Amino acid sequence: MTAPVSTSSVAVPALSPRLLAFALLTVGLALMLAYLVAFDQGALSRSGMYLHELMHDGRHLLGVPCH
Ligand SMILES: [Zn+2]
Repeated sequence: MTAPVSTSSVAVPALSPRLLAFALLTVGLALMLAYLVAFDQGALSRSGMYLHELMHDGRHLLGVPCH
């Protein structure tokens, strides 16, 4: 006689709304960062360097010397 195949029940945690919100926020921020980098590198814009210049001017505005 063979033993019956045991069907093990694996507890899969339910996806809580809080975890879902956190995951969506993380993905959203990652996509925004990728968009900004691509924009600044000229992949999405012809201007390029716009974000770089903006951050550069921001640094000077805060009094951080860089050159
Ligand atoms: Zn500078």
